[in-house]
Amino acid sequence: MSARILDGNALSADVRAQLAESVKEVKARGVTPCLVVILVGDNPASAVYVRNKVAGCEKAGMRSLRFDYPADTDPKRVLDKIAELNADDSVHGILVQLPLPPQFEEKEVLEAISVDKDVDGFHAENVGRLSQGQRAFFPCTPHGVMKLLAAGDIDVSGADAVVIGRSNIVGKPMAMLLTQAGATVTVCHSKTRDLAAHTRRADILIVAIGRPMFITGEMVKPGAAVIDVGMNRIPAGLPNEGKLCGDVDFASVKDVAGAITPVPGGVGPMTITMLLANTLESAQRAAERKGV
Ligand code: NAP
Repeated sequence: MSARILDGNALSADVRAQLAESVKEVKARGVTPCLVVILVGDNPASAVYVRNKVAGCEKAGMRSLRFDYPADTDPKRVLDKIAELNADDSVHGILVQLPLPPQFEEKEVLEAISVDKDVDGFHAENVGRLSQGQRAFFPCTPHGVMKLLAAGDIDVSGADAVVIGRSNIVGKPMAMLLTQAGATVTVCHSKTRDLAAHTRRADILIVAIGRPMFITGEMVKPGAAVIDVGMNRIPAGLPNEGKLCGDVDFASVKDVAGAITPVPGGVGPMTITMLLANTLESAQRAAERKGV
């Protein structure tokens, strides 16, 4: 039997249509949601992500501004720009595209962004709020995964969930969101002994490791929901070399899993959608503060 496809493109289109309606409402109150994206350097993947984020904003009726800096920029220039944007009431979200060039201290840059405009949800205070179950901007990729699970009617409460990967942007916040939703969560990483023993008992398996087609059918519990966060290129010498692929071997896993996200068209589109949702929420909070 082949797994049900959890279609991120379709869900994303639905959510973005709802967002566009809410954008109209907040604009009618005199507040136009505005996201600023900062890109340092010329990483081609980052340039594509930034383009898609800016285009997503514009399509939803939001304003978006983009500031590009050369790779050898003094970090102070970027920190000064962030300070200026923090003080600008017309800006609701500030995002610095990662990775940054080596002369930057990533943590320093992320923490320079006002907590109230941290629509990526990477500021330590937002991470702390998330861990305490308080109102926060949730990091976009794990938040998008939670939406995909909900839309796919996957029961999270009581489920055994296994997250592979413990990065600050995906694995760790993913584990926190699943825990808050009532799952029993195991986080695996490169030091995990006998990874397959963990993955085989997962009702929900979230894979965020950055290794092409790493998880195969025999590592998956029959009927499990498998969410593939990975975005890789198919290595040289394999069929479809250079094409986009996930961390999950879709061909073998789809015959075992109960539900699965494809790559592309699964988690990826939801990430930008949740960024737009966070920017809208920030603008709505700004409208509340203004009393309009
Ligand atoms: P990352 O920072 O490189 O973290 C990778 C994690 O995977 C680490 O925790 C690492 O363990 C673990 N890992 C690596 N090899 C492993 C192995 N053989 N067995 C078990 N665990 C292993 O990556 P990331 O930023 O979280 O991204 C992960 C993937 O998701 C990448 O393909 C990235 O492109 C993709 N991504 C997609 C989206 C999207 O919108 N779809 C968004 C963000 C990221 P250690 O901690 O022990 O090193």
